[in-house]
Amino acid sequence: MSENAFFLNGNEVTFTPGQTILEVAEANGVRIPTLCHLKGTTPTGACRICVVEVKGARSLMPSCATPAARGMDVKTESPRVIKARRMVLELLLASGNHNCAAPGGVADDDWTGFQLGVQNMDGTGDLCPVWGDCKLQELAFQYQVRGSRFTPNPGKYPTELKNPLIVRDFSRCILCGRCVQACNEVQVNRAISHGYRGYDSKIVAAEDKALIDSECVFCGECVQACPVGALVEKKSRYVWRPWKAKKIRTTCPYCGVGCQQWLHVQDGKIVKVTGVEDGAPNKGRLCVKGRFGYDFIYSEERLKTPLIRDEKGDFRPASWDEALNLVADKFKQIIAESGPDALAGVSCARSINEDSYQMQKLFRAVFKTNNIDHCART
Ligand code: SF4
Ligand code: SF4
Ligand code: SF4
Repeated sequence: MSENAFFLNGNEVTFTPGQTILEVAEANGVRIPTLCHLKGTTPTGACRICVVEVKGARSLMPSCATPAARGMDVKTESPRVIKARRMVLELLLASGNHNCAAPGGVADDDWTGFQLGVQNMDGTGDLCPVWGDCKLQELAFQYQVRGSRFTPNPGKYPTELKNPLIVRDFSRCILCGRCVQACNEVQVNRAISHGYRGYDSKIVAAEDKALIDSECVFCGECVQACPVGALVEKKSRYVWRPWKAKKIRTTCPYCGVGCQQWLHVQDGKIVKVTGVEDGAPNKGRLCVKGRFGYDFIYSEERLKTPLIRDEKGDFRPASWDEALNLVADKFKQIIAESGPDALAGVSCARSINEDSYQMQKLFRAVFKTNNIDHCART
């Protein structure tokens, strides 16, 4: 065995010093389930779903926080591991209003009552807003967890509907902490943290205020990181359904950074936007405009035709030919009367590079002036 190697499910694998068991497993195509793990941030080992059996170790080890070491003998799906994962899933399902699978302590006869209770709490008769796009639900099905010895605890905090863009449903929060890491370590906004203890535990903003009353800038990184339905985009809640929507990759139109986005399009309309996790330059991150500012394209107030101001100062609709001819005539008139430096152009930051390039060519090569700039922000 080479110096940096160990056995993973009976196969010898190599590692780079500092890599965790989870990272080595991923690099070797071995899937270990995770809930609290957020790539690129400090591992917390909070959820215990990624535990593995390491020969000789007294307890199961969280693979996200355990460094690989020479000669280890690691089993990722042993009966002991499966039993532990099922227990974690049972406890998590019983820890809130998880009405997509039969949760802990609900007898078959009570199931409809529980379901109705959750729907009433939600103010809707619909399925959980993230049904079909939830890591907890996915794992509950994978490990066939239905029912348990634990009485479900619907939680003590009401859903926070006050924020304009994000709904916080504490009854579905599994306290994995991914939102805290996304806010503090990925976006470095430091708006939320873990608050209270035990049964009272809660993710808090400022001194337990609504996000709108805190330092939150509504970048939505926490929503993208949340593995369950505890943080949901308000505009797409109960509208977006993963089985109805298709994903289209595009570049954010708002500024020159060029963040990569997924547009979630349903019935021909964008209903939600997420960042492309492995796409440069943003690696999944978006700002408030990129993530939530997509619906202006459906505004009734959008200009659909050029407007020309008449002698009285009122706007009247015009054709593109008429508007462009008017602008060209005015440019020619100004250059003839006062020279090219009497003109100046400001290219919009929302323009694509190619349009901005053409704009400066027009000013420099055609009008013969260097009075051309680019507005930094929109
Ligand atoms: S958050 Fe996930 S596990 Fe909970 S009810 Fe919704 S889909 Fe089910
Ligand atoms: S929206 Fe952004 S700033 Fe606000 S809590 Fe979430 S990650 Fe932090
Ligand atoms: S809100 Fe979501 S990401 Fe944050 S702790 Fe709860 S379940 Fe985890």
